[in-house]
Amino acid sequence: MADLSGGGEKFDLLVIGGGITGCGVARDASMRGLKVVLVERDDFASGTSGRSSRLIHGGIRYLEHGQLHLVYESIRERQTLLRIAPHLVKPLAFTWPIYRGARVGRRRLSAGLFAYYLMSGGRTRKHSTLSASETLEREPGLERTGLTGGAVYYDACTDDARLTIANALAARQNGATVVSHARVTEILREAGKAVGAVMSHQLSEVTNSIRARVIVNATGVWTGQFDAGKAPRRGHGSKGAHISVPRTRVGNRDALTLISPVDGRVMFCLPAGSQAIIGTTDDWTEESPESVHASVADVDYLLRAANAYFPDAHLTRADVVSAWAGIRPLATAASSNPTAVSREHSIVSDGSGMIHVTGGKLTTYRSMAAEIVDQVQKSLGEDLDRAPTDSVELPGAERDAEIARLQREDARLADPLVPGLPHTGAHLVYGVSKEMAQTLSDLLIRRVHLAFETLDHGASVAVRAADIVAPLLAWDDQTKSARVREYRQDIERIFAIG
Ligand SMILES: Cc1cc2nc3c(=O)[nH]c(=O)nc-3n(C[C@H](O)[C@H](O)[C@H](O)COP(=O)(O)OP(=O)(O)OC[C@H]3O[C@@H](n4cnc5c(N)ncnc54)[C@H](O)[C@@H]3O)c2cc1C
Repeated sequence: MADLSGGGEKFDLLVIGGGITGCGVARDASMRGLKVVLVERDDFASGTSGRSSRLIHGGIRYLEHGQLHLVYESIRERQTLLRIAPHLVKPLAFTWPIYRGARVGRRRLSAGLFAYYLMSGGRTRKHSTLSASETLEREPGLERTGLTGGAVYYDACTDDARLTIANALAARQNGATVVSHARVTEILREAGKAVGAVMSHQLSEVTNSIRARVIVNATGVWTGQFDAGKAPRRGHGSKGAHISVPRTRVGNRDALTLISPVDGRVMFCLPAGSQAIIGTTDDWTEESPESVHASVADVDYLLRAANAYFPDAHLTRADVVSAWAGIRPLATAASSNPTAVSREHSIVSDGSGMIHVTGGKLTTYRSMAAEIVDQVQKSLGEDLDRAPTDSVELPGAERDAEIARLQREDARLADPLVPGLPHTGAHLVYGVSKEMAQTLSDLLIRRVHLAFETLDHGASVAVRAADIVAPLLAWDDQTKSARVREYRQDIERIFAIG
């Protein structure tokens, strides 16, 4: 981890926030040759970027709202990410069942999917329409009554946290200084101009300052905290909750796009190993982004949809393996209906040396980052070429082979941490040595998704995990106990329902 304790180093660019936006900006700017420092308060992807639906998608539902530009950009970016991160972004087929009287009927869906296909310039596998029996062949557990047909179309899925981390790693490989678990507590100003920041290292309690010519505020829903001379304001946000339930109970074979029986919103049922993830809700929220979690009402809303489409599921709250929520940082709040608000972004240069970013989505982070760094260059008065971020592969392709090697070298590292799940000690060792993990939450929530996949969210393996990584992180017994305690607090906060 970078040592900035001297505090004297001057950077071209300070990026605050290690979500997908900040990590994407740091990668792009460092590839252009700028001297960059990225500072994340907690772990990379510990905010909204680790709570998404994990889809890299054209956003078929944005067609309904006439956001053609966003659909076009998203489809292009989906294709780019499939190319530059084949180890992290995979094609995914979606079945969309249609029922009599549905808000989106067969004709409308076919027209939408055709537009979706055309916008990909023919580079996506073509969708097909299905009869009712063909739809049931793909998804035999679906409700039969009223089913008139369906369609199958193609998008992509990812590991949101590891896509974010891959960008942070790429930035580091390109010379950026990349720091996690360090909170920016103050912007340093001279003659009204932002010239640097004070940061407080959360794990060591050391505080130091850094100087930078330009600062990008990429703190997502926390964006209002650095408004000069104003009380902190919260970014506009809409809460989205997900639940995971045993896939055998739902009975879905693949991914489905569904219309909520409650309010007609588009939602998803997604395969995730032995589980099905159902999401998401979409409601304006006043909840603090630090403590946002799924409510009982969120869980019931999602269960109601799953039970309506899969009548044999009979899911109750007791079947929920985990439930979590994130807040979408939306650039505008013009509508009372958050679903109708554009997922486009805004980049505002405040004239004092700070550029504030809000909105966007995981899918379009790369093109958004390029736009932000263009703005950074303008502020710096530099004339650099755009970086080839759309053709250089993201790091991490060697992960599986490296983990297999660790397991061969030490058989104890091949034991599953939880029976039936693929995560082993080798995944943790790799997370610490190659993926900048520093705490148990970094490891069990974001380097692997064990916390999402177990009823106790990994509480029972925390001590074993701590024993495995303690020598690598130089944890003594006291630190180990503190890290286990903090992990238990984190999972209580993130996975609470209520
Ligand atoms: C429920 C849900 C589902 C979604 N699904 C999808 C999807 O399937 N596909 C898609 O494309 N998009 C999806 N999105 C949108 C996408 O997840 C977000 O647009 C994106 O993750 C936002 O990234 P960000 O970097 O702007 O914010 P964040 O990921 O929140 O990053 C901001 C970071 O700033 C850090 N920070 C805050 N204050 C400080 C400070 N003082 N010092 C240092 N660091 C600080 C935080 O810790 C945080 O890590 C979804 C969003 C939600 C909520």
